[in-house]
Order: sequence, then structure tokens, then C-alpha cells
Amino acid sequence: MSTAYPQLEARYREAALIKTTQSMLGWDQETYLPAKAHPWRADQIAWLAGQQHRLTTGDEIGGWLAQATSEDLTPSQRTNVRGWQRDYALARELPNTLVEELTRTTAQATQIWAEARARSSFADFLPQLSKLVALAQEKADRLLPITGGTCRYDALLGEYEPGIRTAEVSAVFASFAPALAALLEPALARSATTPADALAGHYPVAAQQAFNREVATAIGFDFAAGRIDTTTHPFCTELGPYDVRQTTRYDEANFLSSLFGILHESGHGLYDQGLSKADWGLPAGEACSLGIHESQSRLWENHVGGSDAFWAHWYPRACHHFPHLKDVSAATIAAAARRVERSFIRVDADEVTYDLHIAVRFEIERDLMAGTLALADVPEAWNALFKKLTGLTVPDDAHGCLQDIHWSFAGFGYFPTYTLGNLNAAQLMAAARRAVPTLDDQLASGQYHTLLTWLRTNVHEKGRSLTAPELMTAATGQPTVAGPMLAYLEAKFC
Ligand code: ZN
Repeated sequence: MSTAYPQLEARYREAALIKTTQSMLGWDQETYLPAKAHPWRADQIAWLAGQQHRLTTGDEIGGWLAQATSEDLTPSQRTNVRGWQRDYALARELPNTLVEELTRTTAQATQIWAEARARSSFADFLPQLSKLVALAQEKADRLLPITGGTCRYDALLGEYEPGIRTAEVSAVFASFAPALAALLEPALARSATTPADALAGHYPVAAQQAFNREVATAIGFDFAAGRIDTTTHPFCTELGPYDVRQTTRYDEANFLSSLFGILHESGHGLYDQGLSKADWGLPAGEACSLGIHESQSRLWENHVGGSDAFWAHWYPRACHHFPHLKDVSAATIAAAARRVERSFIRVDADEVTYDLHIAVRFEIERDLMAGTLALADVPEAWNALFKKLTGLTVPDDAHGCLQDIHWSFAGFGYFPTYTLGNLNAAQLMAAARRAVPTLDDQLASGQYHTLLTWLRTNVHEKGRSLTAPELMTAATGQPTVAGPMLAYLEAKFC
């Protein structure tokens, strides 16, 4: 007879209600909130974060957890208890004052970052960033004994990607970055055969929205349980078991930008929509890690959307929405979509150069947290590193260290999960092909259900029952490695 487990579940279901209410306010802040309403919103979000933190850190939870481990539980319930043990240990290390201060500061910083980026002035963001770095350092110092590891960055990484160490990420980049650099010249040479203006034309927002929605529906995104809105920085958030919100931005000169954005965020959305409904908001119904989450977005964006087969199938529909595309072939659209170019903005980067952007941010963050890089020196350090890896000279802060939103929400340690996601995506796609020999034929005819089902079974429905290395091993035969990604890039781009 369980007595502690039901109390734990009731408590964490209540916490999930608060958390998703907070996410709802965050979504509104990014989409529709009037400019003058930001300070009040920051207070609302901070208050909810404090309530959630109090609910999930009480002494009674420790007692329930100790008792629940000896109760007769189902496999899902055991996953929940293991997840709560970790979450509780982490949350207990953070005092309410720190959580509220961090939440309030980040809520304000988002707007200040957006304004500073618009003016391309790192100096305008510096005071806020200074507060955020100090808070993140304090948090890391408190979490390190729980996450394990030897440096602050280990603790911050560990929050997003349990068990991964800074040294392992450094080792990945040490071998992966030179291999990427070696692919760059052949990929640039092949791209040179497709002119940069191959798809030049006007692509009205309304037509882009209609086409994007058609594609998102075809790959399985459920619009009765989700929606798409417009923001500066595309994202996807889950507000409940049947409420997944994704956002994108539009460029009327380039329809591929919003389309690939939607394929990416739909990949995240499909993962969220595939989590266990019965355990929703509990560890058995939560995503495994950010590196696994990102694998889902990159898989649909690049391995499905970026393929020749995708464009052969979708060409007639693309021409329906954008009639002037009849003057170019499906093969030209596919070639334009695979164009490789050295560029400044990470979210617009092609697959060959993308992880070089991550390598830059990772090094800067790691050194900031270690205290070996002064904040005022960030733009200079950023620009030097970017030049070294890509050969490009950064013209201003908006095209350099200010381009991404992550620091404004104190998301230090988040960036390496993008590269882990890319590696995981290639590895999972190769495993799905081995498991389903007809997979490519199905994808070529616009049938995405078998692939989605394979991902549901091997990734989505696992929740947090496995760590990321365990999940990758169960699904593909080995933990995350770079080999499948490099083989995929070479075949596609060289
Ligand atoms: Zn993503």
C-alpha cells in the first residue's frame, strides 16, 4: 500500500499547474504583451516561480521520497520518484530569494537585450548581463555538489544535460570542429554552382503561413493541440498536455527561413505532443534532456526537410502557394536549401557551419563562468574566436555576441545541447533507416507516419525513464558520437 507516492504525485501535479501558468505568461510576453506591461509581467512570473519553488522544496517532500522508494510502484511511478529525487536535490540547493531574483532579472533582461540588439550595443546590455552572470555563478556554486563535476560550467550544463561534463564537450569540439572545417571548402565549392538568388522573389507572409501549416500538419503536428505565432526569436513551449505553442518569424524575400523554422519548432512540438498524457508534467511524461529535444527538431528540419526527396514531393504545393517557383525546378529549391555559406547569424547558419557558432559561444560561456574572461571583453573575445573558426570579421555586436536571446534568460550551459542535438539527430535517423528499410521510399512519397511512430516509441514515450546516453544506446546501439553526423554531412554537402 503506497502512502507517500500519492502525496508526491499530487504535489508535483500542482507544481506543473504553476509551471505551465508561468510558461503561458512567458509565451504571452514574447508574442502579444504591450511594451509598458513588462515590469508587471516580470513580477507575475517571479511570484509564480517562487510559489513553484516553495511547493517543490518543502521538508515533507524529503520524507515522502525516502518512504516512496520502499513502496510497491509501477515502472512509471519509479521513473517519477527517481526524477523527483534529482529535481528535489537540485531545487533544495537554491534559496527562494535566488530563484525569485533570477526570474525577475531575466524577465526584465529579455526586453533590455532586445533593445540593445536593435541598437547593436553590447554596452547597453552589460549592466543586466553582469547581474545575470553573477546570479548564474552563485547558482552553479550551489548546484555543483548535486550535479557532480569539477567546475561551475559542469553544474550549469548538468541542469540541461544530466551527466555531461564540460571536458566531454570540449573533447567533442576538439575533434568535430576540425572535421567540419575540412568539409567547408568542398561544401562551399559545391554550393557555388547554385546562385545565391536562385529563389529570388516575393513570398507574402500569408502564403508562407499557409504552406508552413500544410507541411507541419503533414509531418504530424496536431493543430487542435497547438498553434503558431510570430516572434523575434523562434521557440516552442508546452503549456499543457494538449497545448504546444510554436513561433517563427517571416522574411518576404525568403520563404525557406520560416519554413525551416517551422519544421524545426514542429520537431520540438511533436516531441512534446508525444509525451505520455497519463504522466504529463511528471518525470515519466517529461523530455529526457535538451540534447534529445534538439535532436527531434534537427531531424525534421534537416534530415527530412533538407532532403531532395522532400522537395520532389512538396514542389507542386510550393508552386501552388508561390506561383513564380514554377520557373525553377524542385532540384534547384533543394540545392538552394542546402546552400553553404560563411555567415554571422547562428539561426540562419547552414548545417556545415552551424556547430562552429556553438563552439564560439561554448568557449565564451565556459570562460565567463570560470571567471577567466571579463564581461567587458566579451565582444572582442567573441569576434576573435569567430574570425579564427569561420574566417569572418564580425561587423557589430548585433551580428556577434548579442545575436542570441539565451544570456537574457541566464541560459548559460544551454548552447552545447544544440551540437549534441545535431549529433543525436544524425545517429537516430541512421538507426531509424536500419530499423525500417522502406523508410526513404515512404518519406519520398510524403508519408511521415512510420518515422514519427519510430520516434514516438524510441524517444518520446521514454520520458525521463532513461538518461540521454542510455536512451541513445537503447535506440541506436551507442551513446552520442560524431561519426553518423559527419557521414551525413559529407554525403549531403560534398
Ligand atoms: Zn531547437
